[in-house]
Amino acid sequence: MTQILHEFDAVIVGGGAVGGIQALELVNLGYRVAMVEQNMPCMASSNPERVVALSYGSRCYLEGLGVWHDIAKQGTGAIRFIEVREPNNHGEMHMLASEKGVDALGYVVELSHVVAAVDAALKDKITMFCPAKVTQVHRDDDTAHISMQYQGQPQELHAKLLIAADGTHSQMRRMAGIGTHGWDHNRFGLVASIRCERGHADTAYECFRQSGPLACLPLADGRFSIVWALAPQEAMRMLDMPERMFLKRLQRAVDEAVLPRSGWMLEVSKRACFPLELRIAQSYTASRMVLIGNAAHTLHPVAGQGLNLGLRDVATLSQILRHQPADMGADILLQAYAEQRRLDVLAVAGFTESILAAFGQDFLPLKCLRRQALDGMQSLTPLRALLMEHAAGLSQVGKA
Ligand SMILES: Cc1cc2nc3c(=O)[nH]c(=O)nc-3n(C[C@H](O)[C@H](O)[C@H](O)COP(=O)(O)OP(=O)(O)OC[C@H]3O[C@@H](n4cnc5c(N)ncnc54)[C@H](O)[C@@H]3O)c2cc1C
Repeated sequence: MTQILHEFDAVIVGGGAVGGIQALELVNLGYRVAMVEQNMPCMASSNPERVVALSYGSRCYLEGLGVWHDIAKQGTGAIRFIEVREPNNHGEMHMLASEKGVDALGYVVELSHVVAAVDAALKDKITMFCPAKVTQVHRDDDTAHISMQYQGQPQELHAKLLIAADGTHSQMRRMAGIGTHGWDHNRFGLVASIRCERGHADTAYECFRQSGPLACLPLADGRFSIVWALAPQEAMRMLDMPERMFLKRLQRAVDEAVLPRSGWMLEVSKRACFPLELRIAQSYTASRMVLIGNAAHTLHPVAGQGLNLGLRDVATLSQILRHQPADMGADILLQAYAEQRRLDVLAVAGFTESILAAFGQDFLPLKCLRRQALDGMQSLTPLRALLMEHAAGLSQVGKA
Protein backbone atom coordinates (compact mmCIF):
# COMPACT_ATOMS: atom_id res chain seq x y z
CA MET A 1 0.00 0.00 0.00
CA THR A 2 1.33 3.49 -0.84
CA GLN A 3 2.38 5.74 2.00
CA ILE A 4 1.06 9.28 2.17
CA LEU A 5 3.70 11.78 3.23
CA HIS A 6 3.08 15.02 5.11
CA GLU A 7 5.62 17.70 6.13
CA PHE A 8 5.29 19.93 9.22
CA ASP A 9 7.42 22.06 11.50
CA ALA A 10 6.20 20.21 14.59
CA VAL A 11 4.24 17.03 15.23
CA ILE A 12 2.59 16.74 18.64
CA VAL A 13 1.63 13.23 19.75
CA GLY A 14 -1.17 13.41 22.36
CA GLY A 15 -4.16 15.74 22.20
CA GLY A 16 -4.89 16.17 25.91
CA ALA A 17 -4.90 19.59 27.58
CA VAL A 18 -1.12 20.01 27.44
CA GLY A 19 -0.67 18.87 23.83
CA GLY A 20 -3.58 21.07 22.72
CA ILE A 21 -2.28 24.19 24.43
CA GLN A 22 1.19 23.56 23.01
CA ALA A 23 -0.35 23.34 19.53
CA LEU A 24 -2.14 26.64 20.06
CA GLU A 25 1.08 28.38 21.15
CA LEU A 26 2.93 27.08 18.10
CA VAL A 27 0.29 28.04 15.52
CA ASN A 28 0.13 31.50 17.09
CA LEU A 29 3.90 31.72 16.48
CA GLY A 30 3.37 30.81 12.82
CA TYR A 31 4.48 27.16 12.83
CA ARG A 32 2.84 24.40 10.78
CA VAL A 33 1.61 21.87 13.32
CA ALA A 34 0.15 18.37 13.17
CA MET A 35 -1.39 16.52 16.07
CA VAL A 36 -1.70 12.74 16.42
CA GLU A 37 -4.26 11.50 18.95
CA GLN A 38 -5.14 7.85 19.48
CA ASN A 39 -8.57 8.27 21.07
CA MET A 40 -11.70 10.03 20.02
CA PRO A 41 -12.56 11.98 22.08
CA CYS A 42 -9.33 12.16 24.10
CA MET A 43 -9.71 9.45 26.70
CA ALA A 44 -8.00 11.14 29.63
CA SER A 45 -10.09 14.26 29.36
CA SER A 46 -13.57 13.09 28.48
CA ASN A 47 -14.63 11.86 31.93
CA PRO A 48 -16.94 14.50 33.44
CA GLU A 49 -15.60 13.78 36.92
CA ARG A 50 -12.05 14.68 35.85
CA VAL A 51 -11.67 18.04 37.47
CA VAL A 52 -8.51 20.08 38.01
CA ALA A 53 -7.63 23.07 40.16
CA LEU A 54 -5.74 25.62 38.10
CA SER A 55 -3.63 28.18 39.90
CA TYR A 56 -4.19 31.91 39.49
CA GLY A 57 -0.93 31.93 37.48
CA SER A 58 -2.32 29.31 35.05
CA ARG A 59 -5.52 31.32 34.66
CA CYS A 60 -3.49 34.42 33.69
CA TYR A 61 -1.54 32.31 31.18
CA LEU A 62 -4.72 30.88 29.60
CA GLU A 63 -6.21 34.38 29.52
CA GLY A 64 -3.17 35.56 27.57
CA LEU A 65 -3.73 32.71 25.10
CA GLY A 66 -7.36 33.77 24.67
CA VAL A 67 -8.97 30.51 25.87
CA TRP A 68 -9.80 31.32 29.49
CA HIS A 69 -13.01 33.12 28.57
CA ASP A 70 -14.37 29.96 26.87
CA ILE A 71 -13.33 27.75 29.80
CA ALA A 72 -14.88 30.14 32.33
CA LYS A 73 -18.11 30.26 30.31
CA GLN A 74 -18.63 26.57 31.11
CA GLY A 75 -18.33 27.34 34.82
CA THR A 76 -15.39 27.56 37.19
CA GLY A 77 -15.36 27.17 40.95
CA ALA A 78 -13.30 29.90 42.60
CA ILE A 79 -11.05 28.87 45.51
CA ARG A 80 -11.15 31.89 47.80
CA PHE A 81 -10.23 30.02 51.00
CA ILE A 82 -8.05 26.97 51.55
CA GLU A 83 -8.19 24.99 54.77
CA VAL A 84 -5.54 22.38 55.45
CA ARG A 85 -6.57 20.03 58.23
CA GLU A 86 -5.53 16.81 59.86
CA PRO A 87 -8.65 15.08 61.22
CA ASN A 88 -8.15 13.67 64.73
CA ASN A 89 -5.00 15.72 65.26
CA HIS A 90 -6.54 19.21 65.46
CA GLY A 91 -3.86 20.93 63.36
CA GLU A 92 -5.11 23.44 60.84
CA MET A 93 -3.98 26.20 58.52
CA HIS A 94 -6.03 28.68 56.48
CA MET A 95 -5.21 30.67 53.37
CA LEU A 96 -7.31 33.52 52.00
CA ALA A 97 -7.19 34.92 48.49
CA SER A 98 -7.91 38.43 49.78
CA GLU A 99 -4.66 38.37 51.78
CA LYS A 100 -2.78 38.11 48.48
CA GLY A 101 -4.95 40.71 46.80
CA VAL A 102 -6.26 38.25 44.21
CA ASP A 103 -9.79 37.26 43.31
CA ALA A 104 -9.09 33.57 43.96
CA LEU A 105 -6.12 31.35 44.85
CA GLY A 106 -7.20 28.94 42.12
CA TYR A 107 -10.04 27.84 39.88
CA VAL A 108 -11.70 24.45 39.66
CA VAL A 109 -12.55 23.41 36.11
CA GLU A 110 -13.57 20.28 34.26
CA LEU A 111 -10.68 18.97 32.21
CA SER A 112 -13.07 18.32 29.31
CA HIS A 113 -13.96 22.04 29.25
CA VAL A 114 -10.28 22.97 28.94
CA VAL A 115 -9.80 20.53 26.06
CA ALA A 116 -13.02 21.72 24.35
CA ALA A 117 -12.00 25.40 24.57
CA VAL A 118 -8.56 24.62 23.17
CA ASP A 119 -10.03 22.45 20.37
CA ALA A 120 -12.33 25.32 19.38
CA ALA A 121 -9.40 27.76 19.29
CA LEU A 122 -7.41 25.31 17.12
CA LYS A 123 -10.19 24.73 14.58
CA ASP A 124 -8.75 24.71 11.03
CA LYS A 125 -5.34 25.84 12.30
CA ILE A 126 -3.64 22.46 12.67
CA THR A 127 -3.75 19.14 10.84
CA MET A 128 -5.38 16.61 13.11
CA PHE A 129 -4.90 12.85 12.78
CA CYS A 130 -7.45 11.24 15.10
CA PRO A 131 -7.89 8.43 15.83
CA ALA A 132 -4.41 7.43 14.65
CA LYS A 133 -1.83 4.93 15.85
CA VAL A 134 1.91 5.66 15.73
CA THR A 135 3.71 2.53 14.55
CA GLN A 136 7.28 3.73 14.29
CA VAL A 137 9.47 6.74 15.00
CA HIS A 138 12.82 7.39 13.43
CA ARG A 139 14.83 10.51 14.23
CA ASP A 140 17.85 11.43 12.11
CA ASP A 141 20.10 14.52 12.20
CA ASP A 142 17.60 16.95 10.78
CA THR A 143 14.15 15.32 10.72
CA ALA A 144 11.81 13.26 12.87
CA HIS A 145 9.93 10.63 10.83
CA ILE A 146 6.68 9.39 12.36
CA SER A 147 4.92 6.42 10.76
CA MET A 148 1.30 5.84 11.67
CA GLN A 149 -1.94 4.15 10.70
CA TYR A 150 -4.66 6.64 9.93
CA GLN A 151 -8.00 5.89 8.24
CA GLY A 152 -6.81 2.40 7.42
CA GLN A 153 -3.68 3.59 5.58
CA PRO A 154 -0.04 3.84 6.52
CA GLN A 155 1.05 7.48 6.56
CA GLU A 156 4.30 9.22 7.30
CA LEU A 157 4.85 12.61 8.91
CA HIS A 158 8.12 14.54 8.73
CA ALA A 159 8.88 17.32 11.19
CA LYS A 160 11.76 19.33 12.61
CA LEU A 161 10.47 18.61 16.10
CA LEU A 162 8.45 15.80 17.66
CA ILE A 163 6.64 16.83 20.84
CA ALA A 164 5.56 13.99 23.13
CA ALA A 165 2.41 14.99 25.03
CA ASP A 166 1.06 11.46 25.25
CA GLY A 167 0.63 11.21 29.00
CA THR A 168 2.00 9.13 31.86
CA HIS A 169 2.68 5.95 29.89
CA SER A 170 4.09 7.83 26.90
CA GLN A 171 4.72 5.60 23.90
CA MET A 172 7.01 8.30 22.43
CA ARG A 173 9.13 8.32 25.60
CA ARG A 174 9.39 4.53 25.51
CA MET A 175 10.27 4.49 21.80
CA ALA A 176 13.06 7.01 22.48
CA GLY A 177 14.43 4.70 25.20
CA ILE A 178 13.94 7.26 27.97
CA GLY A 179 13.31 5.67 31.37
CA THR A 180 11.59 7.20 34.39
CA HIS A 181 12.35 7.72 38.07
CA GLY A 182 9.59 7.29 40.60
CA TRP A 183 7.23 4.81 42.12
CA ASP A 184 3.70 3.61 42.29
CA HIS A 185 1.98 5.07 45.37
CA ASN A 186 -0.12 1.94 45.70
CA ARG A 187 -3.15 4.20 45.97
CA PHE A 188 -6.02 5.11 43.70
CA GLY A 189 -7.52 8.56 43.54
CA LEU A 190 -11.29 8.15 43.79
CA VAL A 191 -12.98 11.15 42.18
CA ALA A 192 -16.63 12.21 42.38
CA SER A 193 -18.82 15.27 42.84
CA ILE A 194 -20.77 15.69 46.06
CA ARG A 195 -23.81 17.81 46.78
CA CYS A 196 -24.08 19.07 50.36
CA GLU A 197 -26.90 20.82 52.20
CA ARG A 198 -25.24 24.21 52.33
CA GLY A 199 -22.70 24.23 49.50
CA HIS A 200 -19.01 25.07 49.78
CA ALA A 201 -18.66 28.83 50.35
CA ASP A 202 -15.73 28.91 47.86
CA THR A 203 -13.62 26.86 50.26
CA ALA A 204 -11.21 24.06 49.35
CA TYR A 205 -10.42 21.57 52.10
CA GLU A 206 -7.38 19.34 52.19
CA CYS A 207 -7.83 16.69 54.89
CA PHE A 208 -4.74 14.64 55.63
CA ARG A 209 -5.60 11.18 56.81
CA GLN A 210 -3.06 8.50 57.54
CA SER A 211 -4.26 6.35 54.64
CA GLY A 212 -3.88 9.28 52.27
CA PRO A 213 -5.20 12.79 51.62
CA LEU A 214 -8.79 13.71 50.82
CA ALA A 215 -9.33 16.95 48.90
CA CYS A 216 -12.68 18.72 48.52
CA LEU A 217 -12.67 21.39 45.82
CA PRO A 218 -15.47 23.91 45.18
CA LEU A 219 -17.24 23.45 41.83
CA ALA A 220 -19.10 26.13 39.89
CA ASP A 221 -22.52 24.58 40.62
CA GLY A 222 -22.08 24.58 44.41
CA ARG A 223 -21.01 20.94 44.68
CA PHE A 224 -17.64 19.71 45.90
CA SER A 225 -15.32 17.70 43.67
CA ILE A 226 -13.45 15.18 45.79
CA VAL A 227 -10.15 13.38 45.22
CA TRP A 228 -9.80 10.66 47.84
CA ALA A 229 -6.58 8.65 47.97
CA LEU A 230 -7.39 5.05 48.93
CA ALA A 231 -5.63 1.70 48.97
CA PRO A 232 -6.53 -0.24 45.78
CA GLN A 233 -8.93 -2.74 47.39
CA GLU A 234 -10.65 -0.05 49.41
CA ALA A 235 -10.98 2.13 46.30
CA MET A 236 -12.66 -0.73 44.40
CA ARG A 237 -15.07 -1.30 47.30
CA MET A 238 -15.93 2.41 47.48
CA LEU A 239 -16.52 2.57 43.72
CA ASP A 240 -19.38 0.11 43.89
CA MET A 241 -20.72 0.96 47.34
CA PRO A 242 -24.40 2.04 47.56
CA GLU A 243 -24.73 5.83 47.60
CA ARG A 244 -25.89 6.24 51.22
CA MET A 245 -23.16 4.03 52.58
CA PHE A 246 -20.56 5.85 50.50
CA LEU A 247 -21.69 9.26 51.76
CA LYS A 248 -21.62 8.01 55.35
CA ARG A 249 -18.03 6.83 54.92
CA LEU A 250 -17.05 10.11 53.30
CA GLN A 251 -18.63 12.16 56.07
CA ARG A 252 -16.58 10.20 58.57
CA ALA A 253 -13.40 10.79 56.58
CA VAL A 254 -13.61 14.58 56.23
CA ASP A 255 -12.53 16.70 59.14
CA GLU A 256 -15.20 17.33 61.80
CA ALA A 257 -14.89 21.05 61.07
CA VAL A 258 -16.16 20.62 57.48
CA LEU A 259 -19.67 19.25 58.06
CA PRO A 260 -21.00 22.02 60.34
CA ARG A 261 -20.33 24.41 57.46
CA SER A 262 -21.21 22.32 54.42
CA GLY A 263 -24.12 20.51 56.03
CA TRP A 264 -24.86 16.83 55.40
CA MET A 265 -23.65 15.23 52.20
CA LEU A 266 -26.75 14.44 50.16
CA GLU A 267 -25.75 13.10 46.76
CA VAL A 268 -22.77 11.63 44.98
CA SER A 269 -22.22 11.59 41.21
CA LYS A 270 -20.77 8.74 39.18
CA ARG A 271 -17.43 7.71 40.73
CA ALA A 272 -14.13 6.96 38.96
CA CYS A 273 -10.65 5.88 40.04
CA PHE A 274 -7.16 6.78 38.79
CA PRO A 275 -3.90 5.12 39.81
CA LEU A 276 -1.58 7.50 41.67
CA GLU A 277 2.08 7.44 40.82
CA LEU A 278 5.22 9.50 40.62
CA ARG A 279 7.00 9.30 37.26
CA ILE A 280 9.71 11.72 36.24
CA ALA A 281 11.38 11.17 32.87
CA GLN A 282 15.13 10.62 33.14
CA SER A 283 15.54 13.08 30.29
CA TYR A 284 13.08 15.64 28.90
CA THR A 285 14.60 15.52 25.45
CA ALA A 286 16.10 13.21 22.86
CA SER A 287 17.39 14.19 19.46
CA ARG A 288 14.57 16.10 17.64
CA MET A 289 12.13 15.36 20.46
CA VAL A 290 10.86 16.95 23.70
CA LEU A 291 8.56 15.65 26.42
CA ILE A 292 5.87 17.87 27.93
CA GLY A 293 3.09 17.42 30.49
CA ASN A 294 2.50 14.03 32.05
CA ALA A 295 4.82 12.40 29.50
CA ALA A 296 7.63 14.29 31.27
CA HIS A 297 6.29 14.17 34.84
CA THR A 298 3.33 12.59 36.58
CA LEU A 299 2.72 13.62 40.18
CA HIS A 300 0.42 12.61 43.01
CA PRO A 301 -2.53 15.07 42.86
CA VAL A 302 -2.27 16.06 46.55
CA ALA A 303 -0.97 19.54 45.74
CA GLY A 304 -2.97 19.87 42.50
CA GLN A 305 0.10 20.73 40.45
CA GLY A 306 0.25 18.32 37.47
CA LEU A 307 -1.50 20.39 34.82
CA ASN A 308 -0.13 23.65 36.23
CA LEU A 309 3.35 22.21 35.77
CA GLY A 310 2.48 21.01 32.24
CA LEU A 311 1.38 24.52 31.30
CA ARG A 312 4.75 25.84 32.45
CA ASP A 313 6.45 23.26 30.15
CA VAL A 314 4.40 24.66 27.27
CA ALA A 315 5.15 28.28 28.19
CA THR A 316 8.89 27.56 28.43
CA LEU A 317 9.11 25.71 25.11
CA SER A 318 7.06 28.38 23.36
CA GLN A 319 9.26 31.14 24.77
CA ILE A 320 12.36 29.37 23.43
CA LEU A 321 10.77 28.98 19.99
CA ARG A 322 9.19 32.43 19.76
CA HIS A 323 11.86 33.99 17.51
CA GLN A 324 11.40 31.39 14.78
CA PRO A 325 14.89 29.88 14.98
CA ALA A 326 16.21 28.45 11.70
CA ASP A 327 15.90 24.93 13.14
CA MET A 328 13.25 24.56 15.86
CA GLY A 329 14.49 21.06 16.71
CA ALA A 330 18.16 22.03 17.17
CA ASP A 331 19.85 20.34 20.12
CA ILE A 332 20.87 23.59 21.73
CA LEU A 333 17.23 24.75 21.99
CA LEU A 334 16.07 21.42 23.37
CA GLN A 335 18.82 21.47 25.97
CA ALA A 336 17.77 24.98 27.00
CA TYR A 337 14.21 23.67 27.48
CA ALA A 338 15.40 20.73 29.59
CA GLU A 339 17.59 22.93 31.78
CA GLN A 340 14.83 25.46 32.39
CA ARG A 341 12.27 22.83 33.33
CA ARG A 342 14.34 20.50 35.50
CA LEU A 343 14.43 22.63 38.65
CA ASP A 344 10.72 23.53 38.64
CA VAL A 345 9.69 19.89 38.15
CA LEU A 346 12.02 18.62 40.88
CA ALA A 347 10.93 21.35 43.31
CA VAL A 348 7.21 20.63 42.81
CA ALA A 349 7.70 16.85 42.90
CA GLY A 350 9.83 17.19 46.06
CA PHE A 351 7.21 19.40 47.71
CA THR A 352 4.41 16.97 46.81
CA GLU A 353 6.26 13.90 48.04
CA SER A 354 7.36 15.53 51.28
CA ILE A 355 3.77 16.45 52.16
CA LEU A 356 2.76 12.82 51.59
CA ALA A 357 5.66 11.50 53.63
CA ALA A 358 5.07 13.93 56.51
CA PHE A 359 1.36 13.13 56.79
CA GLY A 360 1.62 9.42 56.08
CA GLN A 361 3.05 8.47 59.50
CA ASP A 362 1.02 7.64 62.59
CA PHE A 363 4.03 7.87 64.94
CA LEU A 364 2.82 9.96 67.93
CA PRO A 365 5.75 12.45 68.21
CA LEU A 366 5.44 13.07 64.48
CA LYS A 367 1.70 13.73 64.85
CA CYS A 368 2.42 16.35 67.55
CA LEU A 369 5.06 17.89 65.34
CA ARG A 370 2.62 18.06 62.43
CA ARG A 371 -0.02 19.74 64.55
CA GLN A 372 2.53 22.28 65.73
CA ALA A 373 3.79 22.76 62.19
CA LEU A 374 0.29 23.47 60.80
CA ASP A 375 -0.57 25.79 63.72
CA GLY A 376 2.90 27.35 63.45
CA MET A 377 2.44 28.04 59.75
CA GLN A 378 -0.90 29.65 60.54
CA SER A 379 0.81 32.21 62.77
CA LEU A 380 4.07 32.50 60.79
CA THR A 381 2.87 34.97 58.23
CA PRO A 382 5.89 34.98 55.85
CA LEU A 383 5.91 31.18 55.54
CA ARG A 384 2.17 31.07 54.98
CA ALA A 385 2.49 33.84 52.39
CA LEU A 386 5.10 31.76 50.58
CA LEU A 387 2.81 28.71 50.60
CA MET A 388 -0.06 30.81 49.29
CA GLU A 389 2.14 32.14 46.53
CA HIS A 390 2.93 28.54 45.65
CA ALA A 391 -0.73 27.44 45.73
CA ALA A 392 -1.86 30.36 43.61
CA GLY A 393 1.10 30.07 41.25
CA LEU A 394 1.69 33.80 41.76
CA SER A 395 5.44 33.56 41.28
CA GLN A 396 4.65 31.92 37.93
CA VAL A 397 2.33 34.64 36.57
CA GLY A 398 3.54 35.38 33.07
CA LYS A 399 5.40 32.06 32.90
CA ALA A 400 2.12 30.08 33.28
C1 LIG B 1 -7.28 12.39 40.36
C2 LIG B 1 -6.43 13.47 39.74
C3 LIG B 1 -6.59 14.79 40.13
C4 LIG B 1 -5.80 15.80 39.58
N1 LIG B 1 -5.96 17.08 40.00
C5 LIG B 1 -5.18 18.06 39.48
C6 LIG B 1 -5.32 19.41 39.90
O1 LIG B 1 -6.15 19.73 40.75
N2 LIG B 1 -4.52 20.36 39.34
C7 LIG B 1 -3.58 20.04 38.39
O2 LIG B 1 -2.88 20.95 37.90
N3 LIG B 1 -3.42 18.76 37.99
C8 LIG B 1 -4.18 17.77 38.49
N4 LIG B 1 -4.04 16.49 38.07
C9 LIG B 1 -3.05 16.19 37.03
C10 LIG B 1 -3.57 16.56 35.63
O3 LIG B 1 -4.84 15.98 35.41
C11 LIG B 1 -2.57 16.06 34.57
O4 LIG B 1 -1.29 16.51 34.91
C12 LIG B 1 -2.91 16.59 33.19
O5 LIG B 1 -4.25 16.34 32.86
C13 LIG B 1 -1.97 15.92 32.17
O6 LIG B 1 -2.30 16.37 30.87
P1 LIG B 1 -1.51 15.78 29.62
O7 LIG B 1 -2.14 16.44 28.43
O8 LIG B 1 -0.04 15.90 29.81
O9 LIG B 1 -1.79 14.22 29.64
P2 LIG B 1 -3.16 13.42 29.39
O10 LIG B 1 -4.31 14.19 29.91
O11 LIG B 1 -2.93 12.04 29.89
O12 LIG B 1 -3.30 13.40 27.80
C14 LIG B 1 -2.53 12.55 27.00
C15 LIG B 1 -3.23 12.41 25.66
O13 LIG B 1 -2.39 11.61 24.82
C16 LIG B 1 -3.18 10.61 24.20
N5 LIG B 1 -2.27 9.49 23.92
C17 LIG B 1 -1.72 8.63 24.79
N6 LIG B 1 -0.90 7.77 24.15
C18 LIG B 1 -0.96 8.09 22.82
C19 LIG B 1 -0.33 7.57 21.66
N7 LIG B 1 0.52 6.55 21.72
N8 LIG B 1 -0.62 8.13 20.47
C20 LIG B 1 -1.49 9.19 20.38
N9 LIG B 1 -2.11 9.73 21.46
C21 LIG B 1 -1.83 9.20 22.68
C22 LIG B 1 -4.29 10.29 25.22
O14 LIG B 1 -5.42 9.72 24.58
C23 LIG B 1 -4.57 11.68 25.76
O15 LIG B 1 -5.53 12.37 25.01
C24 LIG B 1 -4.81 15.47 38.61
C25 LIG B 1 -4.65 14.13 38.21
C26 LIG B 1 -5.45 13.14 38.78
C27 LIG B 1 -5.25 11.70 38.35
